[in-house]
Amino acid sequence: MRNALFAAALLLTTTTAIAQPDTAAMRDEALRSDSLAWQLVEDLTTEVGPRLAGTEAEARARTWAAERLRGLGFSNVRIETFDMPVWVRGEERAEILAPFPQPLVLTALGNSGATPARGIEAEVVGYDSMEAFRAAPAAEVRGKIVFVSHNMQANQDGSGYGPFGAARRDGPTLASQRGAVGILVRSIGTDYHRNPHTGVQSFGEGARPIPAAALSIPDAEQMQRVLTRASARNTPVRIRLVLTPRQIGTRQSGNVIAEVPGSDPSAGTILIGGHLDSWDMGTGAIDNAAGVAITTAAAHRIMRAGQPRRTIRVVLFGAEEVGLFGGNEHFRRHREANDVVLVSESDFGADRVWRVAFNLAPGNQDLQRRVTAALAPLGIPVNRAPAGAGADLGGWARSGVAAIDLNQDGTRYFDYHHTPDDTLDKIDPAQLRQNVAAWTAMLSVVANAPERIEPVTPAQR
Ligand SMILES: [Zn+2]
Repeated sequence: MRNALFAAALLLTTTTAIAQPDTAAMRDEALRSDSLAWQLVEDLTTEVGPRLAGTEAEARARTWAAERLRGLGFSNVRIETFDMPVWVRGEERAEILAPFPQPLVLTALGNSGATPARGIEAEVVGYDSMEAFRAAPAAEVRGKIVFVSHNMQANQDGSGYGPFGAARRDGPTLASQRGAVGILVRSIGTDYHRNPHTGVQSFGEGARPIPAAALSIPDAEQMQRVLTRASARNTPVRIRLVLTPRQIGTRQSGNVIAEVPGSDPSAGTILIGGHLDSWDMGTGAIDNAAGVAITTAAAHRIMRAGQPRRTIRVVLFGAEEVGLFGGNEHFRRHREANDVVLVSESDFGADRVWRVAFNLAPGNQDLQRRVTAALAPLGIPVNRAPAGAGADLGGWARSGVAAIDLNQDGTRYFDYHHTPDDTLDKIDPAQLRQNVAAWTAMLSVVANAPERIEPVTPAQR
């Protein structure tokens, strides 16, 4: 008991020894009046627009970002380049030839193989789910075009994306292994606009690239009706598919890095960020200009409030969409510096933060309590599931670095995700400000925490 009292007194002494910024005032000001995040999203989506990984547009985004970060007063702004294979979209068209001739709306999935310029014609074999496709006899699909549907629904935590996304991630490889000549999946999305959702997939070992595309959701449901009626009439559904994407070889991508230097190098670094690249169809406003803007604007607020104890490193990752090249490269290049004590990523749109998840060491319970208290006025409760950071920072979290996730409301996210509709107008300025407020509050507490931020047992996920 005496020891506990002594420890508490010591913590109190150290806590008061390090000047703490007025986190509540900084949070409330961001909520009321942040304009930097919106400016950054508007500028990036307007001045650069779509920025597919490895292209000249993504290179322009890096130049834009480095200039902006320097102009905002960040330190150690630099670009770290790396090489990667690049796939680009070509022509994409499809039509039902029989029994009910009509056009279909689709888009190629990342790394899709190509058809000849005049296309291919084949019979379609359809499955209601990836599970049904897996369970079907392999011989059923040989020489055919596979269609895989699913039943993803919108929800706040976005948890449908993992399981239902298997149709996109694993469907093309399985179809290729089974001798199919192509595959169409129902878009991994939740809207009823006639916009297909693209996304990456990679053909596994021994799977020859075949044409792989996503139908818009209305077109996928049309395809299901056509298949049902054709089957009742005992007649096949035949389509023509034209997809002419290309692998254009090795190109350069890169990560843009900026810092708010801390006053105490021994206290470690807080690593945050989002990704700079986007898919090619929209302007990548919610995915992920928003994450770039939210993390930059919040770090900028901490910088303006005075030097924090810990360094805040903002990394704007390249080539996330096409396979996490930038995140993997950053982890590989910098893990041995062993300075990162906490990671947090913003890559789930621009809608409000609705809960917070932690993966902190048992010894950092008081830090967790203080972050929770700083977020509570924004109506953000605690998610009891452990934080895992996001795609680009997951390597750090899995290696035992503490993580905090500011979970964003995903109800609308998959209406626009990876579609031509991912544009600036989908962002609600008030919700964007709430994100900056939540990030400012979290960063203010963790960057200035007087106690040590300890390594953790990686979250099991
Ligand atoms: Zn993203």
